[in-house]
Amino acid sequence: MGKNKLLDSFGRNLYYLRISVTDRCQFSCLYCKGKTSNFLPESELLTFEEILRLSRIMKNMGTRKIRITGGEPLVRQEVDKLLKEIHALGLNTSLTTNGFALKGMIPKIKSVLNSVNISLDAMTPETFETISGMPKIFHKIVVDSIIAAKESGIPVKINTVVVEENKEEIMALVDFAKNLSIPIRFIEYMKVKQGANHGVSMDSVRKIITDLKGLTKISGKFGDGPARYFKTNDGVIVGFISYSSPHFCDTCNRLRLTPDGKMRLCLLLGGELDLKYMLRNGLSDEKIENKISEFVKLKPFSHGKKEILERKMNSIGG
Ligand code: SAM
Ligand code: SF4
Repeated sequence: MGKNKLLDSFGRNLYYLRISVTDRCQFSCLYCKGKTSNFLPESELLTFEEILRLSRIMKNMGTRKIRITGGEPLVRQEVDKLLKEIHALGLNTSLTTNGFALKGMIPKIKSVLNSVNISLDAMTPETFETISGMPKIFHKIVVDSIIAAKESGIPVKINTVVVEENKEEIMALVDFAKNLSIPIRFIEYMKVKQGANHGVSMDSVRKIITDLKGLTKISGKFGDGPARYFKTNDGVIVGFISYSSPHFCDTCNRLRLTPDGKMRLCLLLGGELDLKYMLRNGLSDEKIENKISEFVKLKPFSHGKKEILERKMNSIGG
């Protein structure tokens, strides 16, 4: 491997790359893509060959971990093959999914996945339907996928975005995580341009859990991302991700690649590097590497507390 070219101007090592492979998704989560059916044309998506070329370039620069996300990554045909190829590069390989198509895929991908994060916002089919826009009978499919993933031995985490609609189900979700012995992370809603405001503060979520189960901060490093982790008195690991208190920016290790091939330095702040253009216009690996190396130096130290996303989350990948 060449020398690490992913150190930004604040000395942070940006070794973790999140790749959104599609903006499409079967769900219409009210805090994410909503009911839009306005998606990128297929020709605008990076091909798997392009994603793999970039993964090799990024590995050479210092990337150690790639998370495949979306939209819903499992709606992209043959994404299992992409996961295998990324894993074969020697990279820590993980997936974030809504769980809908996961169960049947597990036998194909369990040997190449280092971890999977599965979104679950509700313990009742009714609230699942309200938030995801999917018929309530599909709630069981997601729950079964989480159980199957856990049983397969892949390290699993649950992701829950908290909005007014599921606030009452926080403790039921914590109990579900307890029964399966898997960590659960509560994510603060990030306001999307022209979207309604669904926000519920992480402080209020923490208070609900603390009042009923107690919460003790886990000391030392746990996880590889922006969550702060705690343990309830009955042993559930609970993480909180709060965008409005960006305490985690000083240890940020992330870069993002959008489905249309733009590199982003920050989830919340715009400013993108058009890698698809470079890939499709004959730039050598070395030139692309140099462009990325210059770009990462521009990563800001922190985002503001009230940023509003200019893209919907399904076209960034969370
Ligand atoms: N479809 C997959 C899923 O839902 O897990 C992967 C893509 S989704 C965009 C990635 C993560 O972003 C999910 O955990 C989702 O809950 C979260 N997310 C989506 N919109 C959000 C928003 N407005 N604020 C905070 N988190 C959001
Ligand atoms: Fe789809 Fe995930 Fe967005 Fe929900 S959060 S609409 S499952 S991409």
